[in-house]
Amino acid sequence: MDINQLLQRGVDLIKDRPYTNPVLEATLLLSKLLNVDKTYIYTHGKDKVSRPIMDKFLELMEKRAEGYPIQYIINEKEFMGLDFYVDEGVLIPRSDTEILVEYVLEYIDNKYKGKPINILDLGIGSGAIALSIAYYKKNANVYGVDLHDIPLKIARINKERFKLNNVNLFKGDLFQGVEGLGEKFHIITSNPPYIPKREIETLQEEVKDYEPKEALDGGEDGLDFYRRIIPESKEYLIKDGLLIFEIGYDQSKQITNMMVDEGFENVGILKDLQGLDRVVLGIMGKRSWNR
Ligand code: GLN
Repeated sequence: MDINQLLQRGVDLIKDRPYTNPVLEATLLLSKLLNVDKTYIYTHGKDKVSRPIMDKFLELMEKRAEGYPIQYIINEKEFMGLDFYVDEGVLIPRSDTEILVEYVLEYIDNKYKGKPINILDLGIGSGAIALSIAYYKKNANVYGVDLHDIPLKIARINKERFKLNNVNLFKGDLFQGVEGLGEKFHIITSNPPYIPKREIETLQEEVKDYEPKEALDGGEDGLDFYRRIIPESKEYLIKDGLLIFEIGYDQSKQITNMMVDEGFENVGILKDLQGLDRVVLGIMGKRSWNR
C-alpha cells in the first residue's frame, strides 16, 4: 500500500466521529510513524509503506476511532509554537489558553522589559503556560507547582526538550508547593480545573473518558480553585502583582466579583477565539496590601 492509500484507510476509520479532523489526524500519525514531517507525506503519496508501519498505523487509528485523543497517540501538541510532549495524566493544551500566555508576554514587555521577575504557575499540567512563558521571556524566573506526579514528570520532559534553565518545578497543593521558599511573585498564572462536577459527563468522549479528571473537576459549581487561589495569592504577590486565570465561559461574573471583593484592581476579562469570556485578571491593589 502507498502513503495515499494508507491515509485513506485511516481517514475512513475516523471520518464519522464528531470532533475529528480526519485528514490532519491521519497525516500527523503517519508522519510520526515514518519519522518525517507533514509536507513529506503530502509530496510522497506514491511511496510504498512497509508492513509493520502499516499495521501500527491502522492499529493506532482504530484506537483513535474509539475516542482516544490523537495527541496522546502521537505524544505531541503544539502550543505557542512549541511542540509539547503530552500523555495521559495531563490536559492536552488548548489554543484558547494561548490568549492568557500572549497577554502575559506582552505585560512582561510593557512593565518589566529585561528585568528579572518571578512568575508562579499553579497546576502546571504539561507545562504549557509556565514553559512557554519561560521560553519566550528569559528574564522571567518561572516556578511551577502541581499536586500530581505525572504532570511534574511530563513538565520536566518538556523543560529538557526546550532547554530551559529558568524553570523550577515543585510538588504541592497550590501555594503549599512554594510556601517554604520565601519568594514573592510579580505574576501568578493558573488554568485550574473549572468544570462543574456534574457537567464532566456531558463533555465529548475524548475529554471525559481520557483526559485527567483532576485537571477538569472544579467541584460543585466549578469554582473551588478560584475560591482558594484568589485570597491565598495575596500572601505571594508583590504589591502591584498580576493574578491571571483561565476560566469557564460562564464564570466571569462570579470570578471578577471574587477578585474585586478581595481588593484586586483593574479587574478585566479577555475573550477566547470564539468570543467567549476565557480569562480573568487583576492587579493586587492597595486594599489588598493593607489587609
Ligand atoms: N478547557 C477545558 C475543556 O473545556 C477545561 C480546562 C479546565 O478545566 N481548566 O475541556
